[in-house]
Amino acid sequence: MKITMKEVTMKFNDVTALDQLSVDFEPGNLISLLGPSGCGKSTTLFLLAGLHQPTAGEIYFGSQLMNQVRPENRGIGMVFQNYALYPHMTVQENIEFPLKIKKAPEKERARRAMDMAELVKIGELLKRKPRQLSGGQQQRVAIARALAGSPKLLLLDEPLSNLDARLRLETREEIRRIQRETGVTTIFVTHDQEEAMSISDKILIMNAGHQQQFCPPQEMYEKPANAFVAAFLGNPPINLMEAVCTDAGMPGIRLHTMEHAVPLTDVFREALPTGQRCQAGIRPEDWFVTNDTAHTAFTGKVIHKETIGRDTLIRIERDGVFVRALVQPQANILLGDSISLGVQSGKMKLFHIDTGKAY
Ligand code: ADP
Repeated sequence: MKITMKEVTMKFNDVTALDQLSVDFEPGNLISLLGPSGCGKSTTLFLLAGLHQPTAGEIYFGSQLMNQVRPENRGIGMVFQNYALYPHMTVQENIEFPLKIKKAPEKERARRAMDMAELVKIGELLKRKPRQLSGGQQQRVAIARALAGSPKLLLLDEPLSNLDARLRLETREEIRRIQRETGVTTIFVTHDQEEAMSISDKILIMNAGHQQQFCPPQEMYEKPANAFVAAFLGNPPINLMEAVCTDAGMPGIRLHTMEHAVPLTDVFREALPTGQRCQAGIRPEDWFVTNDTAHTAFTGKVIHKETIGRDTLIRIERDGVFVRALVQPQANILLGDSISLGVQSGKMKLFHIDTGKAY
């Protein structure tokens, strides 16, 4: 089922939690709502669930206007970060609960509970009480319960945040598998960019109630709409530094106080006249170490070095400007070395100096 939000605004007294959000969620997709705390993710979820009434705008499920439809009549399943299982009920009774409310026959309820338990791989735990389960198992029960009523839309509010790192990874893979198997349109709220990148068909990234970008994860990583999105995605984070457009025989971008310019690609030439200041964004993996001054975009002293899996992360400094770069361990870089970095062709991102909008 397609979900449409049309210029949806939500105000709490003088706080605008959501400002004219317009977006279409495609049927069968898993969409992440991503952004820092307070950006309006939960508000968006609660609006879809019918737990808030929008101050303005329209919400459609398919072609049906939902603004006045009560939460219990929306055909949604919801999972919260604290699982919110009924402690006095067994796993089976918890999963059956939405069907009991709908007055489904007992046999059908039991069969559905069994199917859902199999789907989330907790078939052997049906007779236990929630307190006899691990956090990961409790979250699976919560997902089974949310799916038991065959919802048209599944809403997940930071469902992994109470799990430890390994369980978080495992449960995230499980959520993706279950979502694919059931094909249910799913909205997943998270503040964790890595989680959103790994699990989603599309990410909606927000800041202070405003939509920043809505597209598939890889596209968002490679073509961020603005400096905020660029900085929010990626770990270690992108390097953002002041730059200026030069023309010493060939149009280029000069970073910080460097002597050499990186050639400007055709994409940027018209937007950036000579002398124009901008913000350059270079991801740590997009540098390369070089001895060739013609390729050098930044030179500095290595002030920090650590190993991250197969890569070495270094931090280099020049005149109070810091740059992070991922380099090959065999490059044999030592603390205190002075090294030069080039930028891989076509990888530099450029943003407006004031608005942060991508060129
Ligand atoms: P997120 O889920 O991204 O952390 P929220 O949607 O919870 O953000 O909140 C967005 C903004 O709306 C915040 O400034 C928050 O303080 C405010 N807000 C959310 N719910 C309420 C409420 N019930 N009453 C007043 N302000 C609220």
